[in-house]
Parts: sequence; C-alpha cells; structure tokens
Amino acid sequence: MSPSRRSVALLGATGSIGVQTLDVLRQERERFELVAIAGGEQLSELAAIAAEFNVKYVGVKSEHHRSVLADLLSPDVAIVVGDEGLMSLAQSADVVVNAVMGFAGLPVTLGALAAGKRLALANKESLIAAAPLVAMVRNTPGAELLPIDSEHCAIHQCLASSPDLAGHPDVKRILLTASGGPFRGWSADQLKGATKEDALRHPTWSMGPKITIDSSTLMNKGLEVLEASALFGIDVERVEVVVHPQSIVHSMVEYVDGSVLAQLSRPDMRLPIAYCLGLPERLTHPYGQLDFSTALDLTFEPPDDAAFPALALAYEAARVAGAAPAWLSAANEVAVAAFLADEIQWCDIVAIVASTMDHYVADPLNSLASLYENDDAARRWARASLKK
Ligand code: NAD
Ligand code: MG
Repeated sequence: MSPSRRSVALLGATGSIGVQTLDVLRQERERFELVAIAGGEQLSELAAIAAEFNVKYVGVKSEHHRSVLADLLSPDVAIVVGDEGLMSLAQSADVVVNAVMGFAGLPVTLGALAAGKRLALANKESLIAAAPLVAMVRNTPGAELLPIDSEHCAIHQCLASSPDLAGHPDVKRILLTASGGPFRGWSADQLKGATKEDALRHPTWSMGPKITIDSSTLMNKGLEVLEASALFGIDVERVEVVVHPQSIVHSMVEYVDGSVLAQLSRPDMRLPIAYCLGLPERLTHPYGQLDFSTALDLTFEPPDDAAFPALALAYEAARVAGAAPAWLSAANEVAVAAFLADEIQWCDIVAIVASTMDHYVADPLNSLASLYENDDAARRWARASLKK
C-alpha cells in the first residue's frame, strides 16, 4: 500500500453513485482523502458531506447556490461555481470520480484527463458525446480512464493485461450483459400502458432516476455499447448485448478460440467504485461476494429488438459516428426529463430520440465548440418533437 493517502475529488457527491462512493471512502480513510465535492441541487447534503470529510473545495451550479451554501459551510472551505468550477475541481486530486448525471459531467471528464489524473468514470454520457475529444486528452501523460459502469468494469477486469483492445488482437467480441429492466418479456401492446411507477421499479439495481428510466427502455444498454466502443477502442459490430436477468455476470469477453471470460459478483456498485479507486490493489471489502452454498441460476437470452428499438438506434449512431452519439444522448436526456415530469408517455421516449436523429447533419466533431453546438441543436429538435 502506498504510504501517502491518495486525494479524491467526488463530483456528483449527492447522487446514487456519489453516496455509494462515500460509503467506500468511509471504510478506507487511511488510503484516501476526500478533498473536493460537487453537486447540483442538494445543498444541505453537500454541506453535511463537506463537514464529515473536512473537504477543501465544494462545487455548485450557480452564484445563487454559492450564496445559499456559504451560510452552511465552514469559512475555510472554498466554493467554486459552474463548468469552470467543475473543471478546476477535476484537476484538484489524484483520483477524480465523475458521478455527475448527464452531459453536465463533460467538464469533469475532459478536465481530469487533460490534467493527467485518474478518472473513475460513472458518467457515461460525457464519454459518449465527446468520444473524439476524449480520445485526444486521454493521451496526456498520467491520464488514466477507468470505468465504474459495472459492465465496463467487468470487461476491464477480463482484459486485465491490457485494457486497450489494440493490445488484444485475440479478442473476438465483447458480450455486454443487460438485466432487461422492469419490462423484460412485455409485449409491444403491454408497453403502451407502461407507467412511470412501473419504469422506476428496476428488478436488480437501485440507481438515480435518469439511468433507471434508461434501463427500462434499454437506451442505457445502447449508451453502454457506445461507451464500450469508446473505452476499449472496439468497433460496435464486435459488441453484442446479452440479456442476463440476475445481474450476476457483469459482462464477458470472448476470445478467438471460443473461450469466454466473465466477471461475477452480486450487483453492488461499491465493487466497481472500489476497484477504480484502489487499482492496482484490490480493496478488502467483499462488497459483491457471492454465496455458492445455495443454488445460483444464471440465464442468458437475446434482447427483444422489436420491443426495445433504442438498441438499434444506438448501433446506428455508432455507425454514423461524428456527433451522432452526442445527438442520441442529448435527445434522450430531454425525453427522459419530460417523461419524469409526466409530460410524455413511456413509448414516446425512444420515439422522440428517433425523430430527433432524423435532423442530424453530419459533423466530424473536432472541437469543443462544435460539441456544444451539436448538443444544443439536438436538444432543440427533441423539445420541438415533444410538443407534437
Ligand atoms: P443521480 O441522479 O442519483 O445523481 C447525479 C448527481 O449529479 C447528483 O449528485 C447531482 O446533484 C449531480 N449533478 C447534476 N447536475 C450537476 C451539475 N450541473 N453540477 C454538479 N453536479 C450535478 O445519478 P446516478 O444514478 O448517481 O448516476 C450518475 C452517473 O453515473 C450517470 O451518468 C449514470 O448513467 C452513471 N451510472 C450510475 C449507476 C448507478 O448505479 N446509479 C450505474 C452506472 C452508471
Ligand atoms: Mg451499467
């Protein structure tokens, strides 16, 4: 174990991944020092975390949030604001956990990698939207991109010797497992009556609202196909989705000789979080330990592409490349927010994403300015199609 503690910045500290990361850090105070946190709306929670861990910096969204939070914090804690604030916090620690929800996490991803930090990435949306830009900053000396997303963390573990597939000509394909979500087995007719309550009832994972809805449409798995492609440098044609309802096998890598390696554990996000914090060491808390003394059923089946068209949309966005994945993810954020606000039906979510993609104009995405323009354009088209 390293003699000095690693400093950690946890951005998105009040959400589902944030709270589980804090749980790991509480068990590992002699290894890690939490120095910076950030969050969206939950200011009293942020203040409580700042006091408990004695953090030096807190990031908030706006000047208004800063003035409210200032009254809740000890005066020696520095408050930073907005995207610039997130970017500076992403440069403030040895390990940066990006647990922000959605495209808002972009400054964290780019900031941490450009500063040569270890980025423990839960925020898949930033990587998917900015893949060509992330590829550039990933070459910064010291920069390291480790996936917290359980499927990608499983693949990382299966590829242990070299996480870049360029070093693995013997890998035939990646098999991404999916729980199938709450609507596995539902017919297209039944899906027309799907309610918000149904969609928020995930069978195996407890997560934030946006990703829970994404899991119900299988858009989460579509986003994860794009995420795998960007992380491991693999063409999406070599990434296949397999439905595995028990969420025990977190993903698999198939080699050219037919051998398949898998990573198994109970579904507990603290395991991938601890893996990304501790690498090359493994932390000693057995978060995902399985009990083999009782019968364990592991089943696998193909996804129902007709009932869940989000998967095909994601593969198509990957083939088009450029800014198409950014459009897909932005349109999906708008549609899911509208669904959570009771403005549209469940079936409308993916329909809105599909109709937004019809307006995409090819763009190679070679600057940050063009990424923001594309994100903005996709959101405008998605909002316009909400009204129809
Ligand atoms: P969540 O909604 O529970 O939490 C999101 C966090 O982001 C909150 O702390 C919120 O305050 C913060 N946030 C939002 N906007 C912000 C802004 N502009 N500035 C600073 N902070 C902001 O979401 P979650 O479920 O924890 O998911 C976070 C990310 O991790 C998502 O990208 C999700 O896809 C990914 N992920 C989550 C899980 C899971 O189990 N929850 C698993 C895999 C991947
Ligand atoms: Mg996942």
